Amino acid sequence: MEIPLSQPEITKREKELVNEVLGSTQLALGPKLQEFEEKVAAYVGTEYAVGVNSGTSGLHLLVRALGIGEGDEVITTPFSFIASSNCLLFERARPVFVDIDPCTKNIDPARIEAAVTPRTKAVLPVHVFGHPADMEAIGEIARRRGLAVIEDACEAIGAEVGGRRVGTFGDGAVFAFYPNKQMTTGEGGMVVTDDSRIARLCRSMSNQGRAEGGGWLSYERLGYNYRMGEIAAALGIAQLERLEEILEKRRRVAEVYDRYLREVPEVETPCVSPGVKMSWFVYVIRLAPEIDRDRVMAHLAENGIGCRPYFSPIHLQPLYAERFGFREGDFPETERVSRSTLALPFYNRLAEEQIARVVEVLKSGIDRARTA
Ligand SMILES: *Cc1c(COP(=O)(O)O)cnc(C)c1O
Repeated sequence: MEIPLSQPEITKREKELVNEVLGSTQLALGPKLQEFEEKVAAYVGTEYAVGVNSGTSGLHLLVRALGIGEGDEVITTPFSFIASSNCLLFERARPVFVDIDPCTKNIDPARIEAAVTPRTKAVLPVHVFGHPADMEAIGEIARRRGLAVIEDACEAIGAEVGGRRVGTFGDGAVFAFYPNKQMTTGEGGMVVTDDSRIARLCRSMSNQGRAEGGGWLSYERLGYNYRMGEIAAALGIAQLERLEEILEKRRRVAEVYDRYLREVPEVETPCVSPGVKMSWFVYVIRLAPEIDRDRVMAHLAENGIGCRPYFSPIHLQPLYAERFGFREGDFPETERVSRSTLALPFYNRLAEEQIARVVEVLKSGIDRARTA
């Protein structure tokens, strides 16, 4: 029995809406994009939403819209997908990493203030694995120190903290719709904000720098082609209609994993802070220090079970280590978490018998991978 790491769930409804676009003559910049944007804004609870062709593009646009550029510093986490930090490098800004809370795996707010310098422009928290970062503490520091906040909500659509959805805390936020995310548009992303100026800039820069309402061949500023097409938007509308159902299915899968893994002492299951509603992106476990994580992963792979280390620290990627001089030991919590965690198969339709199989293979892998 092969069990993949992740799998999108495409129903009749997705095909119906995509086919509607294919049957029309408008494949770009049409009614589906506008509808999708309006529906995401309404769901998240922001004034504006701008559809883009990836989460990475969305992050880049927000960095530019906030005027972050050469020599500016942005405080962020080294425990993330590379794009949350690359978006700063695009504009020659400097990522200033701050270590994480090993429980939530999010940026540790208690360490942020010490990293602020006169060049700090913004804080860029990532809601890692769908667990919201501590936005109350981060917002308080940002207000006091006059910093902008960019939420990387790419892994967290629908997550809540204190009854409020992620995406509504920062000056702007980005969601991503790659096929392994909770909802997908194939490739795609969405910038959300309450700030009309940020929304206007992002829209214009996503569309070659055209002015809103200006001519097709009139360019006000440097722009890109970061647009989301109609087919992607149609897929997104159908997924968004089902998002609550999708999140509930994923919550149940996580619950079954939690139940099966409770009796495995070498495994620490994901922790969820009080007041948090998770939007489950992946299911990442942490192994006890005496277990060789890479041997466990090899054993899972040999048995047809998808798994992956999530994440490898950004500061130790060759590009970052060479450019900024980061070294092993710079962010010890991040490094310890990175060495000991792995993502197990996780998707809407993962059945209990498959989970039982994953846990059985995981247990036999753990027995073979004891180093002490
Ligand atoms: C998925 C993801 C992104 C964006 O990825 P794209 O592939 O560009 O859509 C950004 N940040 C994080 C943390 C992500 O997980």
